[in-house]
Amino acid sequence: MHAKKFVLRCVGCGETHAPPALRCDRCDGLLRTDYAKQSFDPREENNLFDFRDWLPSFEAVETTIGPVTYRSEGLAEHLGLDDLVIAFNGYAPEVGARNPTGSFKDFEALPTLLYFREYGIDSLVLASAGNTARAFAYAATLLDYPVIAVVPKRASPGLWLPCKPSTAVRVVLIEGSDDYAFAIDASGLIAETLGVAPEGGVRNVARRDGMSTTMLEYARRFGGLPAHYVQAIGSGTGAIAVWEAALRLRVAGIGASLPALHLAQNAPFTPVHDAWTGGGSIDPEANVEDQLRRIARINAPVLANRTPPYAMPGGVRDALAETGGSTYAVTNEEARGAAGLFRDLEGLSVGPAAAVATAAMIQAVRSGRIGEEDAVLLHITGNNDDRIRRDFRLHRVEPVATLRPEDITQTHVARLRATILP
Ligand SMILES: *Cc1c(COP(=O)(O)O)cnc(C)c1O
Repeated sequence: MHAKKFVLRCVGCGETHAPPALRCDRCDGLLRTDYAKQSFDPREENNLFDFRDWLPSFEAVETTIGPVTYRSEGLAEHLGLDDLVIAFNGYAPEVGARNPTGSFKDFEALPTLLYFREYGIDSLVLASAGNTARAFAYAATLLDYPVIAVVPKRASPGLWLPCKPSTAVRVVLIEGSDDYAFAIDASGLIAETLGVAPEGGVRNVARRDGMSTTMLEYARRFGGLPAHYVQAIGSGTGAIAVWEAALRLRVAGIGASLPALHLAQNAPFTPVHDAWTGGGSIDPEANVEDQLRRIARINAPVLANRTPPYAMPGGVRDALAETGGSTYAVTNEEARGAAGLFRDLEGLSVGPAAAVATAAMIQAVRSGRIGEEDAVLLHITGNNDDRIRRDFRLHRVEPVATLRPEDITQTHVARLRATILP
């Protein structure tokens, strides 16, 4: 039954793999879902499962999670843009956005748990800088599906849900370092030592296809593809996903040329921007201390990823190259200014990452990379917690264990089995 909906095809070598594979065994390329259904026929239930033909699970659940797009008036006029559309994928009922954890990470979590469950995987572990953990904790609570999330302690103020968390959610904090790389190491070790399935990050197709729904929603509402897509990135997973969505839509006869990706990072931590503009590669282990110092200075910590999926086939570099894209470095001050502009002209507050995206769009308009008549899609990937707090009582997700970098060993993790395993 499953084989009929899609196959996983390696972008690097073309080899097909049976789901739920995360990797090609012949090369480093990303696997991509190749769906049997090629026409674009969204349903009308107003959530992300409207696009279930291009999501890897069969099952859909009732939810308020899903992409929202609308035409900008205030910001568009201010910048002289004729055709600016905003995707608002946080929580703001006034524009119809009801993502329960306030960011587009909600698009990744439910499709992933449904997909894994359909293929017989009964628990998973992931590393998160914050928003992903919250989104997966919510989906895990909804489906009562065991999820272990490893999170740096710095992100713990953001570990809340708008409902009571299920005991299926197990949060492990990393204390003593803000380096997200330790969370990645610990989650890998938990997977290996305790036999829990790794969630896969960018290599998980459910995650990318869930994120691709923003571009699908644009196509449904506006009947084509934008000339430009603007997003703040840490890993760039969301950007790869919209590129893949555009490729699918083009096969379905919607849109001719692919949207140029405009990808923004928060200076002074801009590894993708530096690699793309300098023509080099990304070495996560080079000058780690310097990288961590830079990370400590940015206002949008969700964008701090030292190991973005840049150079592999199907990764961010390919996405930029194939779409004629560009990258941006945005300072905290520029982002603050852009957030103020967005609030004044669009009437909504945005989170620090979305402020970075808005500032990058302003740079692109000023430099002429985005023309005044071009169709532009600005992705507001999340907003601040204040708006959701007005409508919901927020429940803290209490960690079950805390690890220090020196505790990230097989022996120590094995000893925590009973505590960590749901
Ligand atoms: C995760 C996140 C991003 C960056 O997304 P990537 O896919 O990692 O590039 C941007 N904005 C918000 C609000 C996020 O939570």
